[in-house]
Parts: sequence; structure tokens; C-alpha cells
Amino acid sequence: MQLLDTLHQIRPQWLNRVTQSLARGAGVRENFRDQLERFYGLLEQAVETGDPAWLDSILSDWALSLTQTDLEETTGNLTKIINQMLQITNEVCRENLSDSEALDVLGVIIPGFSYCFERAAQYEMRARIAYISLQLTQAQQTMEKLDRSKSDFIAVAAHELKTPLTLVEGYTAMLRENLNTSEDTPEAMLLNGINNGTRRLRTIVDDMIDVSLIDNNLLSLNFQPVWLNRLFNVLRLELESYTQERHQSMQIYDFPGSTELTFGDPERLLQVFRNVLTNAIKYTPDGGRIDLDGRRLPGFVEVTVCDTGIGIDNEDQQAIFEKFGRLGNSALHSSGKTKFKGGGPGLGLHIAKGIIEAHGGAIWVESSGYDEVRCPGSMFHILLPLRSEPPDDKTAKLFAPLIHPTTSKIN
Ligand code: ADP
Repeated sequence: MQLLDTLHQIRPQWLNRVTQSLARGAGVRENFRDQLERFYGLLEQAVETGDPAWLDSILSDWALSLTQTDLEETTGNLTKIINQMLQITNEVCRENLSDSEALDVLGVIIPGFSYCFERAAQYEMRARIAYISLQLTQAQQTMEKLDRSKSDFIAVAAHELKTPLTLVEGYTAMLRENLNTSEDTPEAMLLNGINNGTRRLRTIVDDMIDVSLIDNNLLSLNFQPVWLNRLFNVLRLELESYTQERHQSMQIYDFPGSTELTFGDPERLLQVFRNVLTNAIKYTPDGGRIDLDGRRLPGFVEVTVCDTGIGIDNEDQQAIFEKFGRLGNSALHSSGKTKFKGGGPGLGLHIAKGIIEAHGGAIWVESSGYDEVRCPGSMFHILLPLRSEPPDDKTAKLFAPLIHPTTSKIN
């Protein structure tokens, strides 16, 4: 075939030009020239057989050998090289062949090149996707490692702080007994100061222990019959002095579902609602309003805690449930449990989420955004399964007389 001979005839010129133009450095050139020889050979095969698939193997090898820098670039490197090769082919044909020969050769070569463009783009995209998923997996592994180190740190720190804290608490109690002074003496005031400090520290250490229990799937619930409205009443009394101090109104409503018996861990549920209500007090300015309400859904009860506080930006609404999920707007000092924007360690909502999820429920927040002036407020939703039956045999036996009074009497 005449055309094949012509193609073969311009091979040396083509190789020289492409090597000179595309490869920098003598070492690279040598290796690159071998690659080009292979490419040209396959191109000739493709022309001879009319099947451009001959070029697949080299294109795939080139895509696999793309470096990290090549893959990080947004433009296609392989297609760029093929484009340059096509331009050089055009020049070599025009310079070394007559016009009609050049046209004939280009006519059979161009379909091969257009096939190369398509395949190169595919292979390069595949290589890029593989590279990006590898990067993502590595990033995820690093995050998991970081999270594990955080959990380990919390567990060790909580354990190490517990013993000295118990000593301080014990000795303070003994000191109080030995001094036996009335409440308004300077010694009693000093002891009160120590007590307040140790109580705050105890809360933080207990929170750290809870976080490490949740992170290690070790949180165990003590299921008992619970009436949510009774828990809310306990909290109403407990938090009344804080809302009065902050001139806030706190309304807690009874709603269908809150007065029904359900099985849950009352201590843990109190902890959740205490945290959410305390946050509502903390992040609502003086004179604001907090409402606890809810509704019964099929198989579930949904509790909502709504405040007229500073609100939470959309992009932070997931992050606040992570451990140390405090936001930049929280004060860095722990000025007090319920002072406006008094910061905490950022563990409360993470623990609340762990407890609610252990009950088979969910917790999330809705807010139109963060604005300390406009105060758009936030609404926390807590979804809890309603369990009219005990979750396990042990609890069932323990509470049988309460759940099925007539049957248990007969037995
Ligand atoms: P802490 O209150 O100890 O910082 P939490 O885990 O209880 O930690 O809360 C995490 C963060 O979520 C808080 O630092 C605060 O920025 C934000 N947040 C929680 N509740 C509210 C609320 N009702 N209104 C506005 N922001 C809130």
C-alpha cells in the first residue's frame, strides 16, 4: 500500500521533531523517543488494519504514568500532548511530502488521532478519578486517626483528673466539718469558692467520661418507665432561678406524648434536655423567651426547644453536634453556666446526640442563621421512639406489675 510506505518514509523526521519539541533533557528524550517509536508503530498498524483500537495500550500506559502534578492540573495533559503531536505531524507532512501526498497521509492519520483524543480524555479522566478517590480515602483516614487521638486524649485526661478531683472534694468536705463555721464567715466563703470550682470541674470530667463512653460505643442505658412531662417539671424547677436572673420567660407545655409512659433512661434524658435548655438560656439575650413543646408522631414523640437567641448559621448546624463543636461566637471564658454566651467546652450537644441515638432517636437544629442583633432564634428537635413495652427481658420482669397490673397479679 503506497500510503503506508509514505507514512513509513516520514517516520524519522516525525520522531526527531516530536522528541525535540516535547521532551526536555537528554535522559527524558531517550525514553520518550522509545515511547514515540511505539506510538508511531501502532499508528501504522491502525492505518493498515483500519482499527484505531491498536492505540489503546499505549494511551492507557501514558495515562497510568501521569504524575501527581499532572493529575492535580485541571487541563488534560495527555490530550494536550496528542494535540501537539498532531500539529507536528501536519508540519512534517507539509515539509516532506507533496501537497497531494500530504493530504492523503493526513486523511488516513486524522481518524487515528481523533480516536486518540477521545480515548486519552477517557483514560485521563479515569486516572484522575482514581487519584482523587485515593486522596479522599487518605483524608478520611487522617480524620479518623485524628478523631481517635482526640477520643484517646479525652479518656486519658478524664481518668487522670478524676482521682485528684475526688481528693480535693473529700478534703474540702472534711475541712468544712472540722471548721464547723456558720455560712457567713470568711472561711465558709472560701470553702464555697472551692466547692463551686470543684463542681464545675466535676461536670467537665463527667462530660469527658461520657464522650469517651459514646465514642467507644460503651454507653449503656438504664431503661425505666419515663413520663417526659415529669422530667420537664424537674428541669423547670431546676432552671427557674437562672431564667429569673436573666429575665427570660420559659414555657414548658404538656403535649400528646409527653404525658404517656415510655421506656427510656430518665437520668440520661434529663441530661439531654438540661443541656438543650441550658444552651437556650445561655444563647438567648436577657428578656428573651424559651418554649418547650412537642407532638406525638406514629411511634415517636418529637420535643422542640425554641428560643429567641442569637441563632446558628446553616453551615454550623451539623458541626455543633461534633465534639468540641463550640462556635467562634461563643466566649472563650467559662463565665458561668447560664450567662449570656458563657462558653463551655463544646461537649454538651455531642453527648446529647450520643444519648438520643442510643435511645434510637435523633436530634437536629433549625435556625435561619446567626445574628446577635436580630436574634433569629433556634429550634432544637429531639425525636424519641415511644416504647410502651420494656426493651429487654430484665426490664420487663422488673416493671411487669406496672405495665400489666392484672396479668402480674394472676401470676
Ligand atoms: P457549649 O455550650 O459547652 O459550648 P454545646 O455542645 O452545648 O457546647 O454547644 C455547642 C455550640 O453550639 C455552642 O458553643 C454554641 O455555639 C452553639 N449552640 C448551642 N445551642 C445554641 C442555641 N440555643 N443558640 C445558639 N447557639 C447554640
